[in-house]
Amino acid sequence: MADILSRNNKRQSWVLALAGILGLIGLCSTGRISADEPAASTSPRWWKGNLHTHTFWSDGNDFPDMVSAWYQERGYNFLGLSDHNVLSQGIRWDKESKLTKKGGADVISKYLAKFGPAWVERRGEGDEAEVRLKPLDEYRCLVEERGKFLMIPSEEISDKAEGVPVHINATNLKDPIAPLSGATVSEAINNNLRAVHDQAERAGREILAHLNHPNYHYAVTAHDLAHAVLEKHFEIHNGHPGVNQKGDHHHPSMEKVWDIANTIRLVELKAPPLFGVATDDSHDYHGKSGSSHPGRGWVMVRATHLTPEHIVKALKAGDSYSSTGVTLRDVRYEKSSKTLRVEVEPEAGATYSVQFIGSLKGVETAGTPIDTSKLSPAEIKELGRHKHKYSDKIGEVLKTVEGPTAEYTLAGNELYVRAVVTSSLLPVDPSWEDQKQQAWTQPVGWELPQVKK
Ligand SMILES: [Zn+2]
Ligand SMILES: [Zn+2]
Repeated sequence: MADILSRNNKRQSWVLALAGILGLIGLCSTGRISADEPAASTSPRWWKGNLHTHTFWSDGNDFPDMVSAWYQERGYNFLGLSDHNVLSQGIRWDKESKLTKKGGADVISKYLAKFGPAWVERRGEGDEAEVRLKPLDEYRCLVEERGKFLMIPSEEISDKAEGVPVHINATNLKDPIAPLSGATVSEAINNNLRAVHDQAERAGREILAHLNHPNYHYAVTAHDLAHAVLEKHFEIHNGHPGVNQKGDHHHPSMEKVWDIANTIRLVELKAPPLFGVATDDSHDYHGKSGSSHPGRGWVMVRATHLTPEHIVKALKAGDSYSSTGVTLRDVRYEKSSKTLRVEVEPEAGATYSVQFIGSLKGVETAGTPIDTSKLSPAEIKELGRHKHKYSDKIGEVLKTVEGPTAEYTLAGNELYVRAVVTSSLLPVDPSWEDQKQQAWTQPVGWELPQVKK
């Protein structure tokens, strides 16, 4: 009898295991890649993506496959899950008690409801109950679809220098990179960027590095950003409400930091300006107010194909813009006529204002040291690493156009010009109270001195 039971149990567990495997194959074979799809168009188009997001692999509060599905279901085309100092690779089991503490009591049941028990792997009971965090290579087949949605392996290299956070996102990594730090903030930035560059060379792949949230703890100054010339990209917008996007009475806003850094680069360092990206930096997927939700900032990238290489190459070339809600039909800089044209895809009920912003040649870039003699010790502490005040003529508004289409022709005395479009509408889920939907184009019209060979 015992033998028959055990044989039956064995048979049952084989059947269950087989059903499980078939279930997984079922989930993944719905994977929508098929050979009879029409050939992809070779004309460039806009792809929407988020490069900066967190999951249970670090301090986010949902499973990576759940987070990926969130973006895939909302019309994004690419996503980099960039957890702190880790790539989602290999075997990883986490205590269910730890995950429910982060994501809420129903975080496992929501996961089960979404993907089913054949997908969700659990073991142990009671306090010992664990659930497996899937690595990217296993879950990507659930969400990816050729020409529609792409996962790009990413990491937030989360470093510290001079007592402040220095975070750099690396998009399309092959292997994780451990933070390298440095004696100064600039040195830490450069050390990590070199590691990214070395991996790209070794692995023969396109990898994008961008500096995250410079105003978080007011850690990275415009001076740092300017002088770390290996840095080519940074976050002009980060959707996390705690990153001091707007600055304060002591510190410049993120946009002003961009203009100061770009002006110093072009005037003093003869280096190209930084390109901007907007990201979510989302950690919270369960709607807690005041926290970092998904869907607040993204990049639109113009490329012919939805592959990591095409996306990263287009970002490196500056063929992209950043958005918190405004969609552009087109943004184009015509070199022959030195004209930047912006055309908004208008939304019903919205009005638009387009500002062209730049610095003019001859602008003062040295800045003046902030007089701290009249500041209290608390104010000096608040000031942190920001010791300089820069001219208001850096990043001035050169022209404003009301309406969804606008153009600016350079007169010849500009160091660069960029456009920022502001809608009358609020974002769906604003990061702060009076926030408006915006889009930021990349700086154009800049020139570097010819290097004699
Ligand atoms: Zn960060
Ligand atoms: Zn982050």
